[in-house]
Amino acid sequence: MQKEIEIAILPEKIEDEQYILQQGAKMLRLQPQQLKGYKIRKRSIDARSKQVVYRARVIFYIDEFPLPEIYENHFKSVQSGKPVIIIGAGPAGLFAAIRCIERGLKPIVIERGKKVQDRRRDLAKLNREGTVNPESNYCFGEGGAGTYSDGKLYTRSNKRGDVDKVLKLFVSHGATTDILVNARPHIGTNKLPHIIEAMRESVIEFGGEFLFDQRVDDILESFGQARGVKLASGEEIKADHVIVATGHSARDIFELFHRNNWLIEAKAFALGVRIEHPQAIIDQAQYHCQVRSEHLPPAYYSLVEQVNDRGVFSFCMCPGGVIAPCATDHNEIVVNGWSPSKRNNPHANSGTVIQINLEDVPNALNDPFALLDFQKQIEHRAFEVGGGNLVAPAQRMVDFVEGRVSLDLPENSYKPGTSSADLREVLPTFVHEALRGALPIFGKKMKGYYTNEAILVGVESRTSSPIRIPRNKENLQHPQVKGLYPCGEGAGYAGGIISAAIDGINCVDAIDLS
Ligand code: FAD
Repeated sequence: MQKEIEIAILPEKIEDEQYILQQGAKMLRLQPQQLKGYKIRKRSIDARSKQVVYRARVIFYIDEFPLPEIYENHFKSVQSGKPVIIIGAGPAGLFAAIRCIERGLKPIVIERGKKVQDRRRDLAKLNREGTVNPESNYCFGEGGAGTYSDGKLYTRSNKRGDVDKVLKLFVSHGATTDILVNARPHIGTNKLPHIIEAMRESVIEFGGEFLFDQRVDDILESFGQARGVKLASGEEIKADHVIVATGHSARDIFELFHRNNWLIEAKAFALGVRIEHPQAIIDQAQYHCQVRSEHLPPAYYSLVEQVNDRGVFSFCMCPGGVIAPCATDHNEIVVNGWSPSKRNNPHANSGTVIQINLEDVPNALNDPFALLDFQKQIEHRAFEVGGGNLVAPAQRMVDFVEGRVSLDLPENSYKPGTSSADLREVLPTFVHEALRGALPIFGKKMKGYYTNEAILVGVESRTSSPIRIPRNKENLQHPQVKGLYPCGEGAGYAGGIISAAIDGINCVDAIDLS
């Protein structure tokens, strides 16, 4: 017999099997020897009271033993299957490719960037020299923007079944089973590349193909039907199904649609700064302690406040993380954050952003590029104010709110360097004002948050796509082109690794095999 109950576990006992069995026996009023094993189904940290504990939903096995869970994929070869072109090897593209294999379709994944290992060198150069390779950077290359990220695997989507499928596919390609039980699962930058390589190997083993260093410059179409793609090299690859999973930074893809007179539309996105604190401040606030227990992970936060009728919110928080230069072109600054699996860097960062609506930007209802141009301008301004070479403009938190340029800046994790600036020169006034209003309020919600030890680094501008590529609800195809599937974050249907992966799967499921 099995019984599922919720128990509280002291952080130092989370790996202690005997203790957990004893706790279970006590709650179920059984003898400890009657419990033959347990499985944790979900666990989260509960820091509401002084004593921080894990709250876990645990299945206890009474007079029976649990069976080991095996995460294997049973794919068949798709060598002679119908070809499906997938543009982009980010989470949407990769999970679409795996789903193709499951459905007997032959995925041909075309990626403008390099394989994960080769990509690493370009990232090192980006951080060391401040030079951007427009085809290989934090957004472009195998695994997409998700590879050198924090690898947080949660989503606001409530399509739980699909989320579990994505998590299990990650596990079957090398992620630890922890991601199946933690309430806030994450993988980490050091582990993601191996998992992504393993996914590529699965796809190739079962008959799929990958092309790297190959940019798609056009999509072939005749009589309203997709026919394939044209690469930058001039080569054409033919297929009647083309999934466009190119991410929010592939601005040339939006231009391609526009050039072909295929509908695209301006879309709201969020803009702001990355804020970094010493991790110890966040730990003290969240765990009510001087020094975090070695049994607790670096603490996390999530903050939101309404200011001047605008929501200001923290986004993509990376405990023990690093601020990354995520520009995809010269003369622009874009920041984001990542962390390794142990989250053991001394700083905590998060994007702190507000939504930019169509009404905020002139002509956005008529011009599909209006929000993208607005985003570009701010990224370019950040570059100029920073002084070049990806040096980012930055300000201490209290100085920002009180309107002072900081005399100096705290040590921080952004490798290309920061320069002291007045962020009013970079941010639009309404964004600046909303942030100024929100930060002291965040400080009231979270002790220690509002401090001059924190630094604001500009700009966090690639939170989601500023353009949507429309698609029909019923078959996920572009309204003007049959067989063309706008997919993932770039097309406006995802906002993170999990939702992009789910959208990749959904697009393949929408392919009619009859
Ligand atoms: P992308 O991942 O952007 O992939 C698109 C791919 O298409 C790229 O590889 C690109 O090179 C390729 N491509 C573009 N144009 C072409 C072309 N013309 N021809 C061929 N290939 C092309 N999300 C989370 O959920 N959790 C996190 O912790 C997290 N941290 C992040 C940290 C960083 C530093 C960054 C940059 C992002 C982070 N994100 C995180 C966001 C997440 O990575 C994205 O939401 C997700 O990767 C979107 O997936 P996608 O497949 O739709 O697009």
